[in-house]
Amino acid sequence: MIRGVFFDMDGTITEPLIDWRALRGRVGVPEGVAIMAHIEGLEGEARQAAEAVLEAEETRAAASAALNPGAARLVTRLRHRGIRTALITNNHRQAMHLVVQRFGLDFDLLLCREDAPLKPAPDLVLLALTRLGLLPAEACFIGDGTYDLLASQGAGVRYVHLLHPGVTPPAAELISHLDDAWERLGLEPRAAEQVPRGSESDGQGLVP
Ligand SMILES: [Mg+2]
Repeated sequence: MIRGVFFDMDGTITEPLIDWRALRGRVGVPEGVAIMAHIEGLEGEARQAAEAVLEAEETRAAASAALNPGAARLVTRLRHRGIRTALITNNHRQAMHLVVQRFGLDFDLLLCREDAPLKPAPDLVLLALTRLGLLPAEACFIGDGTYDLLASQGAGVRYVHLLHPGVTPPAAELISHLDDAWERLGLEPRAAEQVPRGSESDGQGLVP
């Protein structure tokens, strides 16, 4: 039984805005190396400069990204059902808080790169389980990237992948819209909870 749902931020809660290929080029990250692993291997001014480029891009995206359709509605419905929610992002803390505050999102737990080794390592997911008092089998992670899949697998947590048009997904459970997550997780709506699909009603019209 699902008692907790974890979410990635960029591309899952918000529409994908960061051009990771371009950003990796600006920071000089070799192919096949994670961007933070590359930055952590730098020293002195080179590391500071690379961190500044990454944080500026994350902040720009957090300040301008739109909410993904259905995101606020899903988080609110889960909370009303008594299901614990966590935001788990590789972003830095300021960018994470900016997104949460811009959209008034109400997660039980917020975890970012200052909190534990980053996805694809399982540490942030394991930390969420501990903080929320959940067993791996009681949680599900909804994400949109291979790092989310690997972090979930490493923590023994079920993973559901949000598709983006034109992007080849990994081998995983797939949804094409966050409104489909509810049914995918086997959470049956009460009649009064059914909310029309569409961004205009996002987060509105909910019955506690
Ligand atoms: Mg993502």
